[in-house]
Amino acid sequence: MTHLTFPNGDRMPLLGLGTWKSRPGEVGAAVAEALALGWRHLDCAPIYGNEPEVGEALEGAIAAGTVRREEVWLTSKLWNNAHTPEAVEPALRQTLRDLRVEQLDLFLIHWPVIFRPGVLFPQSAEEFLPLEACPLADTWAAMEAVREAGLCRHIGVSNLSATKLAALAGQARSLPEVNQVEMHPYLQQPGLVAWCEAHGVHLTAYSPLGSPDRPGRQQADAAPVLLEDPVVRGIAVQRGASPAQVLLAWSLQRGVSAIPKSVSPTRLAENLQAQAVQLTAADMAALAGLDRHARYISGDVWTPPGSPYTLANLWDE
Ligand code: NAP
Repeated sequence: MTHLTFPNGDRMPLLGLGTWKSRPGEVGAAVAEALALGWRHLDCAPIYGNEPEVGEALEGAIAAGTVRREEVWLTSKLWNNAHTPEAVEPALRQTLRDLRVEQLDLFLIHWPVIFRPGVLFPQSAEEFLPLEACPLADTWAAMEAVREAGLCRHIGVSNLSATKLAALAGQARSLPEVNQVEMHPYLQQPGLVAWCEAHGVHLTAYSPLGSPDRPGRQQADAAPVLLEDPVVRGIAVQRGASPAQVLLAWSLQRGVSAIPKSVSPTRLAENLQAQAVQLTAADMAALAGLDRHARYISGDVWTPPGSPYTLANLWDE
């Protein structure tokens, strides 16, 4: 498994298993299968509603001798209703209980979006609070404190633009170690990549396959399907690989970790094998040509009329 090495020597496998939308009753089997196949990085979040089942499967795999805890990179996230500094540690402790571990490898602020305390998913614009209600720098200081307390080894953010990262860098004692964002050939974000490279912030690509099972997809969604892109498919045929493997290899060859979700044993095996796929410089150039700055996860769930969030202030573009 290819890794990214952090300054303290910790190694994060570049391929991780996504767990969003992996249903209760399915996710545990998927995690067990993934660990048996050799996956060593799990991407979790309390809002995915399945951390207890992930934790049970992880504990089972450890008990069975499939893996040791220290061999598995475990990421989870702080939900949007827990940004106030005093809410950060209790939220992390709940995730640790659910995942049945003493420490996370990586803990991320999930979105630069805040809900009123107690709101799990806003039903109206009034249930949002503006980001100024609890500046990211304040939440970040609490993240630094839980890292210092040893509850997680590394901390980072998710869905942050280079603008928000730069603002945070100006106020924080330490920079986020990771920024997890949507990234694939249709959304390459060269400006964000350059900022993160220059400042030593590692990028993780979410929805690397174009999130074909994302909510709302079925509702007459005209967005092009990344896995069916003719350039991706053509390269797949040439390399004797699948389209998904080409997309994952594209990310790995850029040094960007990727966290594809699957609950299918055959796809779990297929996606792990993406590490063996070698794309040529010509393949990489052809894939670079696909950029259209198109998001599958637009963030519009945070921008109903009356919300303090707009797509412009969410993405700073
Ligand atoms: P994704 O990984 O791009 O796509 C998942 C979909 O692709 C599922 O429908 C899966 O179906 C299918 N699939 C998996 N392997 C395949 C293959 N080899 N060939 C064809 N189809 C395949 O989408 P995602 O779940 O949106 O993103 C991945 C992970 O990133 C999430 O699960 C989550 O952990 C994380 N994420 C984080 C954020 C954030 O805000 N930080 C946002 C979105 C996602 P099967 O399961 O049936 O195989």
